[in-house]
This record gives sequence, structure tokens and C-alpha cells, in this order.
Amino acid sequence: MADSLACGFCPRRCAYCGLAVKEPMAAAGDSPYPFCPSCLEEYRAYRRREQDAAGQEAYWHNEQWFLMWQAWLRHMQAVEAFRRTPVFFRLMQEKQD
Ligand SMILES: [Zn+2]
Repeated sequence: MADSLACGFCPRRCAYCGLAVKEPMAAAGDSPYPFCPSCLEEYRAYRRREQDAAGQEAYWHNEQWFLMWQAWLRHMQAVEAFRRTPVFFRLMQEKQD
């Protein structure tokens, strides 16, 4: 069992790269996770790209970059969904015993 699943999202670390962040960037409102400034900008660029498939803002924002962010966000949503299931709650209780 990965202990990383037991640990909640740390508001003092960037959810994407793990860098310690002084100001929790989740307060930015439009981001679902705490991001460091550069990851927040990448996340926002991903969201803009989602709205406008033709809008490539940086040379590295290629198809693979887009799919990488898409897969990472889906992974994060899957982790959250798993953490809400009864078996996860049971597992956490057993780990405490
Ligand atoms: Zn980051």
C-alpha cells in the first residue's frame, strides 16, 4: 500500500513537482491543487489549451505535453475517488491499529 495515498494533499508542497511553496497556491482559486508558481502557470496554460486547441503558447506545449497534463489530472482525480471509497477508509483504520 503506497503511503503517498494515505497522506493528504500537502498544502505546502506543489502537487505537481513537489517543490515546497511558501504561499499555498490553491488560494489562486482556479487551481484544484496547490502549485508552485511555474507549475501553476503550466496548469493554466493547459486549461487555456483545452479551451482553444489551436493556441500553442510555448514551443514545448506539444501534443505530448498536453497528454501529460491530461493524464496527471486524471490520475489525481482517480486518487481522490479511491480515497472516498469505503475500502480505503477501512484500510486506513487497519493501518492505525
Ligand atoms: Zn511545481
